[in-house]
Amino acid sequence: MHLSSKTDVLDLQPFEICSIRPPTENYSLTFRLTRNCYWNKCAFCPVYKCGAKFSRRTADEVVEDVQQAKRIDDFLFEQGIGYPVYSEADFYKLQGILQRVQQQRWEAGIIDPDKGGTINSDGCNEIVTDIDDERMQWFMQWFVDRPTLAQCFEHIVQWRIGGGKTCFLGDADGLIVATKDYEKILSTIKRNFPTIERFTVYGRTKTARKKDVKDLLQLQKAGICRVHFGIESGSDDVLNLVHKGEDSRDHIEGCLKAKEAGLSVSIYIMPGLGGRRLSKNHARETARVINAITPDFVRLRTLSVFPYTPLMDMVKRGEFETCSDDEIVDEIEMLLTAIDVPVMLYSDSATNLLPLNGKLPQDKGALLSLIREYKSKDYTERLQYRLRARLESFVGQYGRITRDIEMLLDPLVKGNSIVIDNTHYVEDVILAIYNKLMP
Ligand code: SF4
Repeated sequence: MHLSSKTDVLDLQPFEICSIRPPTENYSLTFRLTRNCYWNKCAFCPVYKCGAKFSRRTADEVVEDVQQAKRIDDFLFEQGIGYPVYSEADFYKLQGILQRVQQQRWEAGIIDPDKGGTINSDGCNEIVTDIDDERMQWFMQWFVDRPTLAQCFEHIVQWRIGGGKTCFLGDADGLIVATKDYEKILSTIKRNFPTIERFTVYGRTKTARKKDVKDLLQLQKAGICRVHFGIESGSDDVLNLVHKGEDSRDHIEGCLKAKEAGLSVSIYIMPGLGGRRLSKNHARETARVINAITPDFVRLRTLSVFPYTPLMDMVKRGEFETCSDDEIVDEIEMLLTAIDVPVMLYSDSATNLLPLNGKLPQDKGALLSLIREYKSKDYTERLQYRLRARLESFVGQYGRITRDIEMLLDPLVKGNSIVIDNTHYVEDVILAIYNKLMP
């Protein structure tokens, strides 16, 4: 049976989606202003290390994507998606709609690929495919410069279910895009999707520092509300070590300019990034930079060393010694103690051990108490806590305990409880779980 709708099924086309985005943008509608990261040298960053190359896009290309998204949104609404309200049940309805769309297009000679593709025509992406690490494979499946129509349908429905109010514009440094392009793109998005209230981008502090405040102000006037800066550390020694390509001056001046332009500033800090040698320096200097900026949000994302990254090579060569969980707790305690400006602190990454979420300065005492309570436990109790916390994060990400983790846990299970007698083995289990968590 053919679908009847005002929108011609044959006119539907996929648009480019940003897979890499802040956790707060998981339900956002996304458009790609650029592809991937032009810097791509940060030693700890696994995101674009397996072949994804940077490229620019024109404002017209993005505008075309917005129009495609609008066509899909209208079409899905005409098919009853969102009736009577948008809900998870729409994902079930979507399956039948997709089958009929593909059938109708197939009959008209349009074969929709069942897998997204990457861009090869201009030599852009040569994605490495024989990767043996699960987390890296997960990253790789995100690099879909040519998503399928099905992926675009799901993206729109997910955004609608999430309330339809937010939009993220990617990829890694949205601030390199010309202000006039933003004006054109944002006005098109607002016209086509008037329910959107918040537009956000990732930015590099070096780019923000080089801009005039009036440029950033124009960006804010065009509609951008918040910039997410991955500052990682305030220590120049740490930033040098990991080839961040930015220093603490970039961080401070870039973020201050963004704030002066009325943009909300959200910064990402990476506990553990200095390794054992620079841990204290990392905590002290990061607090200094936070105090100089007074960002609106500070988000903790504990270091996880990924395969295929320069940092993993440094670890293998003995040039970087990772901190233990307990050392990272000490580092965060030092950082938190030294922050003396009002900020919202979030621990919204699966790699973090302690749930340190709160408003500073009001909640500082309570957050430090949480840290001290953890530190007051004996080693076995801390192991139990760490194992439980990592398992909870694992279930949060994967939805269940998978067979491989179950097998690792088997020797520890006695009756209904987990018994910590072989502490070396438990450390190995915790590490194995941690190495499966996505930051
Ligand atoms: S700038 Fe961001 S995306 Fe690019 S390599 Fe560094 S951390 Fe990764």
